[in-house]
Amino acid sequence: MSKKFVIAVLEGDGIGPEIMAVALDVLRAIESKSDVEFEVQHAPFGGKAYFDTGDAFPEETKAICDNADAILKGPIGLSFEESKKIPVDKQPERGALLPMRRRYNTYANFRPVYLPPELAHFSPLKPHVVEGGIDIMMIRELVGGLYFGEKERGERNGKRYVRETLDYDEDQICRILRVGFDEAMKRKKVLHNIHKSNVLISSVMWNEILDEVAPEYPEVEVRHVIVDAAATALVLNPRQFDVMVMENMFGDILSDLAGGILGSLGLMPSACIGTDASYYEPSHGSAPDIAGKGIANPYSMIGSVALMLEKSCGMEDEAQQLWGAMRGVFGEGFTTADLRDPEGKLDPISTRAFGDKVLARLDG
Ligand code: NAD
Repeated sequence: MSKKFVIAVLEGDGIGPEIMAVALDVLRAIESKSDVEFEVQHAPFGGKAYFDTGDAFPEETKAICDNADAILKGPIGLSFEESKKIPVDKQPERGALLPMRRRYNTYANFRPVYLPPELAHFSPLKPHVVEGGIDIMMIRELVGGLYFGEKERGERNGKRYVRETLDYDEDQICRILRVGFDEAMKRKKVLHNIHKSNVLISSVMWNEILDEVAPEYPEVEVRHVIVDAAATALVLNPRQFDVMVMENMFGDILSDLAGGILGSLGLMPSACIGTDASYYEPSHGSAPDIAGKGIANPYSMIGSVALMLEKSCGMEDEAQQLWGAMRGVFGEGFTTADLRDPEGKLDPISTRAFGDKVLARLDG
């Protein structure tokens, strides 16, 4: 009897439906080649869900996600102007994304930053900087810190004020550091710890806890880098990094920077692993500037499917087939419009055409 996985599918906003449609075709192709069945259950989530139902994370969606084996999520969010039509606390990130992270305690966010040597021309960095490619695993703490601490705004002495708190307890820090060390053990046994202990006492405590955890991993070399210096180093010499671990906001910002050095956020998939459920999403947003044009890069969404196959379905071989198929399409000289083409030799294709080429490679 074939094994069945129930997958909650949240297509999201903007380019979400376009890249999700392609990713689901790819998932079906994997299903047809294996003895696994995927039962896909669609559910509304994000800005469109708010406009349709009055809730960016409706109860119906919670029930579907609660019962799923994994959640596949497209990007959500509205343009700056559109978001003003929704009360601040109901806007897609605050009204749906953060509550989902909290609900499933998805504390470990894996963001692979990968460009093989043969695709290094996609990077806007100089060839000698990216010669040999880029291969970093960024690990971001996802349910603590400034994004989840208490918030308050009000008025004092006739002036508006705002206060947001950066909150971590030692268990939260310890468990994400262990994720970082475990990942380093699987790779080059070097862990870059990104912090800001020269200013933030939260980083001082983070580093103290790291010193307590490190003896459990005597083979791993820890290198400490202050977050602002890490931003510079990622641009000047990204190849010095292998596994990087960091708190929530540092990871949010540095991983977008990482998309920049790859050449596009469209190359950034991610896995959000929780104690109660896991979900898989592109690292980027809903790209309102290109939504509806059929030109979005689906690599981030298909890559999120690959991460789901690996981490939630135990299908490592199939995940590798997906990565290989996507890189094969790029290797043939096809790109989507977001990627750089320094010599004007590449052939920009649509979201759908990219997906079809991936499907053809899976069939072949
Ligand atoms: P964005 O990540 O949506 O887009 C930044 C730039 O990258 C744009 O030029 C966009 O066209 C490009 N881009 C992103 N993904 C691409 C892809 N797959 N293919 C080709 N180009 C791609 O950032 P933004 O414009 O600042 O945010 C838009 C909305 O997304 C906002 O409402 C924001 O809050 C939301 N957002 C959601 C998530 C999420 O769902 N996890 C993450 C980040 C931002």
